[in-house]
Amino acid sequence: MRDELLRVLESYDTQNIHIGTIGSHSALNILKGAKDEGFGTVCICRERERKVYESFGVADRFIIVKDYRDLLEERIQGKLREMNTILIPHGSFNAYIGKFNELLVPIFGNRELMVWETDREKQREWLIRAGVKMPKKYSVPEEIEGLAIVKFPGAKGGKGYFIVSDAEEFYRISERMVKTGLITREDVMKAEIQEYILGTNIYFSFFYSPVYGRIELIAVDRRYESTADALGKVPAKEQIKGEIDPTYTVIGNFPVVLRESLLVQAFEAAENVVKVSKEIAYPGMVGAFCIESIFDENAQMYVFEISARIVAGTNVGIPSSPYSYILFGENMYMGRRIARELKLAVEKDMLGELIY
Ligand code: AMP
Ligand code: AMP
Repeated sequence: MRDELLRVLESYDTQNIHIGTIGSHSALNILKGAKDEGFGTVCICRERERKVYESFGVADRFIIVKDYRDLLEERIQGKLREMNTILIPHGSFNAYIGKFNELLVPIFGNRELMVWETDREKQREWLIRAGVKMPKKYSVPEEIEGLAIVKFPGAKGGKGYFIVSDAEEFYRISERMVKTGLITREDVMKAEIQEYILGTNIYFSFFYSPVYGRIELIAVDRRYESTADALGKVPAKEQIKGEIDPTYTVIGNFPVVLRESLLVQAFEAAENVVKVSKEIAYPGMVGAFCIESIFDENAQMYVFEISARIVAGTNVGIPSSPYSYILFGENMYMGRRIARELKLAVEKDMLGELIY
């Protein structure tokens, strides 16, 4: 596959590259970043979303599809190759497409790591090997001790997750959620039950640059979730009466600046995660990744997830986050950082090292 991709890349006119992505998730971020760095842009979207990308003027070209999966159609792939397109994957690539082995268009990043990301078992193995502290995992509901969070497969943005404190509650709440249609029975079978860490959520968006050979912290955010962030508005007695359970559907993100002494834990985690990534999926991390963590009352960092691509939380860093500003002394954000790396790689004839 890589050889074929490199052949495609060789056929490209590198002075006329288009940066392309699917119109959702962090496409405004990616496409604006590409334009800021002087690239042409192409947005692959459904008719319904077109108006958003048109209104912001970030897309030079549109490829309209009925379904995001149509990206895999040879006709669409051919068009993208004709435009010398490099695709930037984001959460919608995972959520709506999943398998990339039929995609013969160069992608910035490491496809294999994106597969590790979507498989919870593999993800856990990666993080354990990196030696980061993680929440405990319960193999069956009967093992639950204390508060636990129940999660479902895939990048669903926290949809349908819920909290329980024992097996009985697990079965009762999942039954109720299946009945309301929030989750399916299959989801319940595949659920992952994790120790619930009481603390503050911090999502670190890093960038591994093959051109500079370094890890960069670009932005930090937290999520705004429905209904977890709404519960404080309802008195506890009503929560109990109404059997209201918090769920974690992501609605938006807030920027965060961390207490500075805590950055050490984040950098150590990032270094270890990158080191292990080289062992599990050579050449390892390329470009954007996110370490998703919770800090408890002792300011101990627990990593509960990793994403091997741009996350939507980086949208809070447009046009700049304190961290990217300190590093670059100019407005820099993840979409632009990606395009900058591609631009530098074209100049240094290193493009092949960014495409996997
Ligand atoms: P959407 O097209 O908005 O449904 O997003 C595509 C995928 O990315 C879904 O799985 C979402 O849950 C996820 N996603 C979108 N925006 C965010 C965000 N701000 N934070 C985390 N995940 C997100
Ligand atoms: P995820 O889809 O894994 O990114 O998680 C979605 C939401 O669930 C985030 O707001 C997390 O804070 C929350 N969450 C996930 N895992 C845990 C955990 N082990 N303890 C506490 N909260 C968690």
